[in-house]
Amino acid sequence: MTQQPSDWLSQVRIVLVNTKAAGNIGGAARAMKNMGLSDLWLVEPREYPAEEATWRAGNAEDVLDGATVVPTLADALADCGLVIGTSARGRSIPWPIQTPKEAAGQVAKESRQHKVAIVFGREDRGLTNEELQMCNVHLHIPANEAYSALNLATAVQVVCYELRMAMLTERDGAEPHFDDWDQPPANNQELEYYYRHLQETLEKLDFITHDNPRQTMTRLRRLFNRARLDQMELNILRGILTATQNAMYHSENRIKALEAALAAKE
Ligand code: SAH
Repeated sequence: MTQQPSDWLSQVRIVLVNTKAAGNIGGAARAMKNMGLSDLWLVEPREYPAEEATWRAGNAEDVLDGATVVPTLADALADCGLVIGTSARGRSIPWPIQTPKEAAGQVAKESRQHKVAIVFGREDRGLTNEELQMCNVHLHIPANEAYSALNLATAVQVVCYELRMAMLTERDGAEPHFDDWDQPPANNQELEYYYRHLQETLEKLDFITHDNPRQTMTRLRRLFNRARLDQMELNILRGILTATQNAMYHSENRIKALEAALAAKE
């Protein structure tokens, strides 16, 4: 079978150590599935399986139910060639620390060669120093220094999001960017015709005077140029100008006809 560019994501192991709240296990499973991950390991969870976890997992029940439960962190890491430990705070002897994005880049590079695990700690105490010392690098989400501990499932979400971004960037050669639009942009010549049409109409309305349009046309050009009009939008705007000019023409004719009728009476 051919390897899909996203296959390495499903190989990344997310390890939750000694999770206290079952809801967080469900939340983590959902965060993983949303981002394309599926390999969840639980080291001595307080409660699993649990109704609360199933409820929080939403449609990620498959990830939740497929979780591997082991008694020690060493069991979860035994076959891994790269282990990343996540931590909300610095420890006394510093370790190499990466941001989620840096870590995701390294995981993208290595996960085709060997198993990679990302380890998350307990809600109340995080990972112990001994557990963090089992890791090659530490990952820190640079949160508000005054309150840097994210909810466990939220931390899993941030990390999985960066893993997905790394996969998409690698697959598409650039970071995701949404530039689909239903209409082609108006080209420069069409815009120039429109500005001429607009100026003509505004002069007829006596809104600006031909010899002294002042800055009004410049500001209107800036407004429309900034909006990046598409062809359909430009056609609508030109249609409004034509309708305005037609209405002016008809009311002028009506006035002329009235004047002529009055003159004939006199
Ligand atoms: N009071 C604990 C916080 C634990 S938060 C402590 O001081 O360590 C639960 C888990 O979520 C952490 O063990 C870690 O895995 C993850 N986490 C929370 N905030 C994080 C952050 N800013 N950076 C990296 N991981 C974080």
